[in-house]
Order: sequence, then C-alpha cells, then structure tokens
Amino acid sequence: MGVNYLLTKVQVCSIGFLMKAHYKLLLALVVGAALGVGLHPFADTEWIRWISENVLATIGQVFLRSIFMIVVPMVFAGLVLGVYELGQHSGLGRVISKTLLYTVLASSASVIIGVSLMNIMQPGKTVHIPQEVNSSIAELQNNVSQAKSGIQALVEIVPKNPLHAAVYALDGEMLALMFFALVLGVALSRLPKIQEGKEKSTFISLLEELYAASLLIVDYVMAYAPYAVFALVFTSTFKFGYELLISLLYYVGVVVLALCIQQFVVYALLLKAFTKRSPWEFFRACREVYIYAFATSSSNATLPKSLELAETELGIRPAISRFVLTVGSTANQNGTALFEGITVLFLAQVYGVELGFASQMKVVLMSIIAGVGTAGVPGGSLPLIMIVMQQVGVPVEGLGLILGVDRFLDMCRTTINVSGDLVIAALVDDDSVA
Ligand code: ASP
Repeated sequence: MGVNYLLTKVQVCSIGFLMKAHYKLLLALVVGAALGVGLHPFADTEWIRWISENVLATIGQVFLRSIFMIVVPMVFAGLVLGVYELGQHSGLGRVISKTLLYTVLASSASVIIGVSLMNIMQPGKTVHIPQEVNSSIAELQNNVSQAKSGIQALVEIVPKNPLHAAVYALDGEMLALMFFALVLGVALSRLPKIQEGKEKSTFISLLEELYAASLLIVDYVMAYAPYAVFALVFTSTFKFGYELLISLLYYVGVVVLALCIQQFVVYALLLKAFTKRSPWEFFRACREVYIYAFATSSSNATLPKSLELAETELGIRPAISRFVLTVGSTANQNGTALFEGITVLFLAQVYGVELGFASQMKVVLMSIIAGVGTAGVPGGSLPLIMIVMQQVGVPVEGLGLILGVDRFLDMCRTTINVSGDLVIAALVDDDSVA
C-alpha cells in the first residue's frame, strides 16, 4: 500500500514534532490572549492598533493563506485515492456497502448532534462584536455565500467544468470539485489494469505522492503555527476583549459533551441494535487503543494498534477488520465531522453571521464529506474546516481563535474517530455472520 507507506513516513517525522509543538501552541494562545485582553482598553491608541492591524494581522494572514494553498491538491488527491481504494476491493461488495451505510449513519448522527447542541447552547452568542467588524463581515458574507436557491445549489454540485470548479473551489465551488473527485475515483477503480503485471497505474502513484507531499507541506506550515496563533489570538482578543475567552471555554465544553454523546449514546445504541455485543464490554476492551489515539492525535498512527486489538481482543475477522479499519482511518472520522460542524457554527455565532436552515444543512453535508477527505494526522481537519467556513461566509480568520485549544480537541476527536472505526468493523463483522 504505497499511500500508507508514504503516510507512515510523513507521520513518523511529524508526530514527534507536533507533540512538542502542542506546548508551544498553548503558550502562544495564553500569551497572545493575555496581552490582547490586557491591551484591549487601549484599542484606540494609534501605535498599538497599527502593530495589531499591520504586523500581527499580516503574520496571521500569511499563515492562513499557506494552509489554503494546499487545500485543493490535498482534498482532490485524498478523495480520489480514498474512493479508488474502496473500489479496489470490489470482491467485498457486501462489506463495502455495509461499511458505507454505517459510516454515513454514524457521521450524520455525529454532525447532527453537534449542530443541534450548538443551536441549543449557543456558546458564541455571548460575544459582543464591534459594529465596524459586523459591517465588514456582512460584506464578506454577501460575497461568499450568495445564497442560491436549494435546487440550484444541488444542481451546481455537478460541475460543468472540473477545472473551473478547482480554480473557484475556495470561492464556493468546493462541493463540485469533491463531486468530480468522487466520480473520478470510482471510474479509476473500474478501469481494466492498463499495464498487465503493474499493481497500479502511474496516475494513482502520482496522486499518492501528491497527497503525501501535501501532508508534508501542512507540517511545514504548522511549524509556523505558534507565531500565527499568537498573532491571530492577539488581534482578536485585542479587538473583542475577554468575553471571547469565556466563550471559548464554553465552546470546548460543548465539543467534549457532543463527543461523549457520540461515544456513549450513538455507538452504544449501534452496538446494541446491530450486534450481540455489550457496548460497555466493547468500550472496556478498546481502552488501550483509545489512549493511543488520544496521545497521538492521529487515526493513521493508531491503525496498527486498532488492527491488532480488533483481531485479538474483539475477535473480528481479519479480512473485515483490515478493510474497514484501514479505509476508516482516513474515510470515517465522526469525531472530526462533529467538531467541524460545531466549530463553523460557533465561529458564525462569534462573528454574528446568521446561518439559516439551508446554510446549516450545507455545513452538515460538507462536514460529513470533509470527514471523508480529512487526513488521519494531527490537525488534518484544519484545511477542510476553512473550506466549510468559507462556503457559508464565516470569516476564516476566526480559526485563529480556536487553534490554541485545537490540540486538546484533536486528541478528543481522534479518540472518537478511532472508536467509530472499531464500532463499524464490529457492526460489519457481526452483520456478515448473520
Ligand atoms: N487528528 C484527526 C485524526 O487523525 C484528524 C483531525 O480531525 O484533525 O483522526
């Protein structure tokens, strides 16, 4: 598996580095927030304002643009490869359809839980945004999410020209690009082997390299993250004051609560309804893998452990666990989908961007798809969350607010991602026995 080999190499270099980076990010968050809040009363002082608006805001912008730079190649390559690998195992038709069904079920449940909790608890609503910021946001929202009618939005998911969709992916056409990637992945997996004796086509190898290189570029950009976090957090707290911080704690609480509901209600119900296993016993048996996922913040890095545990402790047939867990470590990320839905709505609330029912449905749909396209590495969801934000007109600068707490949330959501893979492997296994 070329892509897994390349990914493992990238992760081995990146995980150790990111562990330490985690502390730097927290420090950057704390110092940036403390300085920003401390200097908020001087928000009208000319020179402090100048530094905030010209120096620090620029540092933040360059960071965000650097992540954006890699989004289109990464999403395209990741989705084509994910679907291609799924299609490769066409002998396992029943296993594939069951896996897809449970994946869609679990992912949809997770995003709906997240979005509902956000609508009920509204942690972002308590933040007061100054008038001038509101007006520039209104402009941004107008530009980006020029609300199309429901039918038209659906029709436009099918791109007239995939190159056009790629060029304008960050200006509202990302879903169209994703659609093309999915169709291309299916078609590539159905092509007769062009060169006999060759395991895979040159095009697939090219995409694997593009994907691995994209992840590496994300790593490079993340090396600069602590400075960007400092800059972004300072500029926001300097502008908005301490209310923002209180609301951030509330936001972390909502994400953790939603993840717990996914684990202890949704997964438990799925296990109870479709298998003969006791959910509690199942969760107990998975403890070690949970700890590993929490510590590494990477579904891909946890994969070897999950494979071992599925066969030994859980007694899942290897043919099934290997397929479901390998594909799931990239394509089934319920915790990430939930986190993305919550975060986009939270930042919309913070910036006072009203998201109506249609926009919220767009967030739900895109978060589910983004869960498929997210790399199972630390911070893998960050580039994708920016797309969802942009598609519904939420200012992407807002991401700077949550980056400082993101590592902790990444640990939590990765645990749920991996747990979901194991649950789905058990569901597919027990179902295929019956
Ligand atoms: N770290 C997550 C995973 O590997 C992906 C993400 O949500 O950033 O599952």
